[in-house]
Formats: sequence, structure tokens, C-alpha cells
Amino acid sequence: MKRVFASIITIGDELLIGQTIDTNSAWISQRLNQMGIWVCHRLAVGDVREEILDALHYESDHSDLILITGGLGPTNDDITKKVLCEYFHCSFKEDAQTLDRVKKMFASRNIPMLESNLHQALVPDCCTVIPNDYGTAPCMWFQSDNIIYVSMPGVPHEMQGIMTDRVLPKLKESFTLPVILHRTVITMGLGESQVAERLIPFEKSLPENIKLAYLPGNGLLKLRLTVLGDVRQAIAYELEQYSSVLKETLQDIIVIEDDVSLEAWVGESAKGNRLTISTAESCTGGLIAHKITSVPGSSAYYKGTVVSYSNDIKEQVLKVPKEVLKEYGAVSEETVKAMVKGVITLLKTDLAVAVSGIMGPDGGTPDKPVGTVWIAAGSAEKITTHKYHLRYSRIRNTEMTANYALKMLVDAIRDKNKRV
Ligand code: AMP
Ligand code: MG
Repeated sequence: MKRVFASIITIGDELLIGQTIDTNSAWISQRLNQMGIWVCHRLAVGDVREEILDALHYESDHSDLILITGGLGPTNDDITKKVLCEYFHCSFKEDAQTLDRVKKMFASRNIPMLESNLHQALVPDCCTVIPNDYGTAPCMWFQSDNIIYVSMPGVPHEMQGIMTDRVLPKLKESFTLPVILHRTVITMGLGESQVAERLIPFEKSLPENIKLAYLPGNGLLKLRLTVLGDVRQAIAYELEQYSSVLKETLQDIIVIEDDVSLEAWVGESAKGNRLTISTAESCTGGLIAHKITSVPGSSAYYKGTVVSYSNDIKEQVLKVPKEVLKEYGAVSEETVKAMVKGVITLLKTDLAVAVSGIMGPDGGTPDKPVGTVWIAAGSAEKITTHKYHLRYSRIRNTEMTANYALKMLVDAIRDKNKRV
């Protein structure tokens, strides 16, 4: 099957100086990838006529589809529409529907309309206007020499709304696309290169149409198998075969056999086993609580956290004995165990996880260097502990600690379930 190639051009000076992070390309790439369109280039250019024209000419030699975002605002620096008019050798026309929508939008918000807002309704006469239900700038669809060009506003929520509602369905109709399927497993405990070493024979056995991707992040390693083909049933079967070999090869380090976050997985495990959980956080300062509560419906199993950053709070709120803190220190197995017991009693939950560590860059001692982290998880009856030695920046150490804590929480949920 012939592949459909796409280029993404993001326009805006702010992207080049790093003031705005180009999230549009990543979002668009993910959506195109899911539907079997191959993104071959992503290009960011400034609000400069020559640069935009160059980008359009260059990408039209490589792609069947060119998606453009940015430069459609009412201000003078936004010139995308004018440059597209020049590129396609056409003139401006007024789009009655856009004009009507812009007028209504301003009337409903009770804001006076400016001349520059009326210009939003001017579009190149060779384009098809795709209505923008999320803002004033119109989305424009062009077709020339068998290439489709779509120009969309840069504002991420507008672009995402238009793409989802209108552009993606229209693209599905415009191209004959292959079927694309993914399977993801998430591992923890082995570095990327060690996993790759173990997977050499597996990777060698993969046929042309199946690809394996390594996606590492904060103590986790996602492995994604992607298969492309014409017949869904046939490739689904093929993917299943290879994904079971992958799972078998990595069975000792797989933590989740799906593309879900650790916090969603904690939620599913807790809900499925009807258990309530709480957290006691020192060095993560509430990050574990934030992750757990980012999952919709988390109130069904999560009671809360105690951010016991100081020893006083560990002692007064969590009832960690003064002697424990004095004898073993705040970053110790004994302290995190006492924190788990304390928060379980205080918040009346079945299970809890507690963390205490030295995130850096300062604060280390010879016997407890920066990166030393103790985590405890379990119930009032049984608590498991683990010591980690992290060696990254403060932010990354904190993220990794939160992930390890969530993993230990799921192990505790599973263990509790086994013992009941
Ligand atoms: P514009 O369509 O150029 O007027 O952009 C409107 C807003 O969207 C500005 O605040 C930009 O910073 C933002 N924006 C533009 N392009 C992107 C992009 N590629 N990723 C994320 N935000 C963007
Ligand atoms: Mg702009």
C-alpha cells in the first residue's frame, strides 16, 4: 500500500525563540499516526513571508498533506493568510459565514468589534473554509497538484477542536489509509539499553510491517509495538502473536500491560479491590497526591495526603516517634514505616504509601548522599520498604520517586488482595 506522507509547519516567531513551546506538532503527529498517516517532517518558521513560502515549496516536494498552524490572528505580525494567497496565486474574498460568526461572537460577548476583527472574514478565494466553532480565525482547506493543505489557528484548543470535529474526518475521506494498531507494555527496573540488549533476538524476528519503539520516562520504560497493514483482522492477529512474545521476554519487569498511566493503574487496582488509600509525602511535596487525583473518579478510593515536609509535622500530625526521628533520621526505613502507620490511622484508609528522601542539589551526608530515598507502602498489618539511590536533578528525582511510590502502592494493593 502507498504510504500517505504529511508535513507539519508551525508558524510564529514565539516558537523560534522558545517563548511558546510547540505543542501543536506533537498533538497533530499523534492524531495522524493513529490513523496511519506518516509524518515525515515537522518544521517551525517565523512570521516571515520568505520563510513561510520556502517551507511550503519545500514540503510540497515531500508530502501529500501539509498541515499548518499559526499566524492567523488579527494582529499585523500574523501574515499566514496573505502568504498563502500569494503561494496559491489567488486573491482575497469575504467569507459570509465567517463574517456572520465573528459578528455574533462579539455581540454575544458584548465587546465592540474592531476593523481588524472584520479582516478575519477575508480568505483566499481558492480555499474551502472550514468553520471554526472555537474562535474567530477561519480554518482553510486548499487542494493543489494532488496535495492537501490545511491552515489552522495556532491557539492549541482551537486547533484541536477543529481537527477533531472537522479536519480529521475530512482527511479520512480524502485518502486511502492503512490500518494501524498499537500494543504497549510498561516496564520498570531495567535501563533502556539493558532492555534493548535482551530484545535483540525479538527485534530481529520482527517483520517489516511491525516496529518496536522505546519510550523512556522517569523510571518507566514504555515499549510500543506498531503494526501497519491492509486487513485489520490479519494484522491484529499478527500483533497479538508478537506482543505475547514480548510480554514473555520481559515478564519479570513488566508493570502494566497497557498504555495507561501509573496513577490510572493505581486507581483501577484500588477500585477493583474496594480498597481506600492515602499518602504521606515528605520529599515529593504532594506530587503523588496530585498524580492520584488527576484521575477522574479518584475520590472513590483516595482519601488524601499529609505533606509532612518538616520533622515537626511528621511528629505532630503523623505521630512518628521523636526517638525514631532522632535515632534513624527523617530519611530512614523506620521513619517511612511510621509515616505509613500514622497516615493510615489519621485518614482511616486500608493502605498508604510514604516517601522521604534527599532530592538535592544540597542536603546530602556521607551515609545519606543526595538521591537517597526511602519508600514504604502497605497496610497496618504489613508494610514493605525499599531504598532507592537516584542520581538526577531535583525535579527528575522527585518525579521518579512519585512513580516508584505509585508502583509500590499497586504491589501493596495486589498483596492485600491476595491475603484477604
Ligand atoms: P496565532 O495563530 O499565531 O495568532 O497564535 C495564537 C496563539 O497560539 C499564540 O498565543 C501562540 O503562542 C499560540 N501558538 C501558536 N502556535 C503554537 C504551537 N505550535 N504550539 C502551541 N501554541 C501555539
Ligand atoms: Mg502568531
